[in-house]
Amino acid sequence: MVNHYLIANWKMHKLSAEALQFIAGFSSTSLPDNTAVIIAPSFPLLPVMRTAIEGARLPVMLAAQNMFYEEHGAFTGEVSPQQIYDAGAKYVIIGHSERRTLMNEHYNMLSQKLKAALTAELTPIYCLGENLQEREAGHSKEVVSGQVQQLVKDFSSADIRKMIIAYEPIWAIGTGKSATPEEVEEIHALMATMLPPGMPMVYGGSVNAQNAQQFLQQPHISGLLVGSASLDIQEFQRILAIF
Ligand code: PEP
Repeated sequence: MVNHYLIANWKMHKLSAEALQFIAGFSSTSLPDNTAVIIAPSFPLLPVMRTAIEGARLPVMLAAQNMFYEEHGAFTGEVSPQQIYDAGAKYVIIGHSERRTLMNEHYNMLSQKLKAALTAELTPIYCLGENLQEREAGHSKEVVSGQVQQLVKDFSSADIRKMIIAYEPIWAIGTGKSATPEEVEEIHALMATMLPPGMPMVYGGSVNAQNAQQFLQQPHISGLLVGSASLDIQEFQRILAIF
């Protein structure tokens, strides 16, 4: 049974040739049966990667980094959950802090996206976490529990069970400053008291091959969401070997 997750967020990096090179260099020899490996490339790479992954028979799944909440219609520039599924992804990242801050995505929109993803049978990877100001004011737990409360209020336990929660403190993303494993464990343990039992909860924020193991050793951390360090195949394989 899968209960561990390694999720790669490639953000707006790689052209198709680079993505194919990554897949060609990927070796699944050390991959334990309980771990799902999920790569989230940019939209145009999804079909290319699906073909490459299927061709190489790799146990790797795809995620989109975002989606719109409507099925179809006059929404120029948007991508529907059904189109994402059709392109080969089974997962979708929703609420990444870069979208919350750069694209002004707020909870009202995110909850619509979560509902639409579930309808399309995509597994949402729902990102939440406090910003630097909130952390420095000592409000991390309060902020995160508020975000989890919103979810619990708007979604049934059965629907929440279909999601993966990604705790990504905003100040730790792309900064080289990760939270300590103890800090993350404390937040995850708190979220576990509010969410249905056994929910997958992954940590993201400047994870690399050097620090990955300390996070995975914590009882409430069931995986990692990795940005920059997932772009390099050797570094990604080193992280994978720790699972
Ligand atoms: C991310 O983009 O979700 C992320 C965690 O990035 P990084 O690993 O680069 O901090």
